[in-house]
Amino acid sequence: MTQISRRELLKLLGAASIMGGAALRPVYGKAAAKVVIVGGGIGGMITAKYLRLINQDVHITVIEPDSIYTFCPGSNDVLVGESISDFQRTYQHSKDRYQLQMIADRVKDIDFNRKQLKTGSGKKIAYDYLVLSPGPGFVFDNIAGWSKELADSKILHAWKAGKQTLMLRDQIRAMPQGGVMVIAPPPMPFRCPPAPYERASFVAEWMAQHNPRGKIIILDNNPGFVFQKQYIKYWKQRRAYGTDKASIEWISSTQGGAVTQVDARNMTVRIQNGETIRADVINLIPTNTANRLLIRTGLTQGKDWAAVNHHDMSSLVQKDVYVIGDSADFNIKTGYLAADQGKVVAQAIHARLHNQAPGQPLYVNDCLAKAGKDFGMTLTETYREREGKLQLAQSIQRPLSSEPENTFMRHFLVAAADNWQRSFRRDVFD
Ligand SMILES: Cc1cc2nc3c(=O)[nH]c(=O)nc-3n(C[C@H](O)[C@H](O)[C@H](O)COP(=O)(O)OP(=O)(O)OC[C@H]3O[C@@H](n4cnc5c(N)ncnc54)[C@H](O)[C@@H]3O)c2cc1C
Repeated sequence: MTQISRRELLKLLGAASIMGGAALRPVYGKAAAKVVIVGGGIGGMITAKYLRLINQDVHITVIEPDSIYTFCPGSNDVLVGESISDFQRTYQHSKDRYQLQMIADRVKDIDFNRKQLKTGSGKKIAYDYLVLSPGPGFVFDNIAGWSKELADSKILHAWKAGKQTLMLRDQIRAMPQGGVMVIAPPPMPFRCPPAPYERASFVAEWMAQHNPRGKIIILDNNPGFVFQKQYIKYWKQRRAYGTDKASIEWISSTQGGAVTQVDARNMTVRIQNGETIRADVINLIPTNTANRLLIRTGLTQGKDWAAVNHHDMSSLVQKDVYVIGDSADFNIKTGYLAADQGKVVAQAIHARLHNQAPGQPLYVNDCLAKAGKDFGMTLTETYREREGKLQLAQSIQRPLSSEPENTFMRHFLVAAADNWQRSFRRDVFD
């Protein structure tokens, strides 16, 4: 019988204990590789967890300024009455269970030559491998009259869930009877393509009960949107879409719908076709780019997104750096994909530490959207990397707009969406 070393025994005990839900005790020595993850959101926490599940020999540090993470998936439900606490998590459980070093700070700069990060409080943190998942950056100055200050106070976006979600909910509740809410999606790509239309649909459903003469106007930077046929069919059935009595109206970019200017004092927006629209609530969603940190440190090479090798999500600009989630150059930006990318990076780092080549990744985006409490939709897309290019391998959509009305399926897909959110939150933080 071969003898098992103390180190191997500890590893096995660690693996066994994690299967049972207890904390995993890493067995690394002083020379262990340091993996530093920037951003304790979906991409960052999935990378930390899955890297620990497959590797107990590395130091894992997560740098995140906020003590509570609020999930964006589900935050549209909060606008119409769900409790925000259902969508919030703290970091203690992940810290203990996966033996992470959590640093409550914001990364301000990266010295790639020294392999060192600098934080807002002046700390210097060394890394061997760096994973960046700081979410998107937002642009405010392409709409005249708008600013970050206004976006934090009166003309909200609620595109990072948390404080603004509750503020926007309160603005919706305070609307006068017969009031108007404007929702203005930015140009694609932005995080969660169906979410502005889902938001409009939810608020219209809420208004049918609480503010029956209220109206939503979607002022769009895009000529069309995902699940457009399904949403419009639903709005025709339920919201008198396309008639004088419609509680929801959509003005596409081809009709000049893009907002060019906002006047916060008079609560008006001007759109590309020259019209001025007055509203009681103005919800402008900013143009998304890579996070400012990535732009500042040259990882985007002057473009909007961080350039990556889709084979393992490594940066095309800097060695030993990986970029995932909404900041990475990936044509769709969702939490589902950020999580997939995190798992790919965890495996890629593990493979490198063992002098192995990373495998061939497949990225799946399972997009579950809702139009209301009785209408859910799904779109599953699978991507693969081939010869340096990202390719769509498969796309499956339900229900198709041509499918006959199936009440059971519509309800079932709402339950599926809610259940996915619940288990997804657990995958990220449990
Ligand atoms: C309304 C809405 C609904 C959505 N619904 C869905 C859905 O149903 N399904 C789905 O798959 N996706 C959905 N999404 C998209 C999803 O939330 C994002 O794609 C996902 O969060 C991206 O993960 P990430 O890790 O890139 O960013 P995040 O999850 O936003 O995490 C980024 C983290 O980095 C931190 N950070 C930022 N800068 C720094 C810094 N300099 N230093 C340290 N930390 C920093 C932030 O505080 C944050 O915690 C939705 C988005 C919105 C807005």
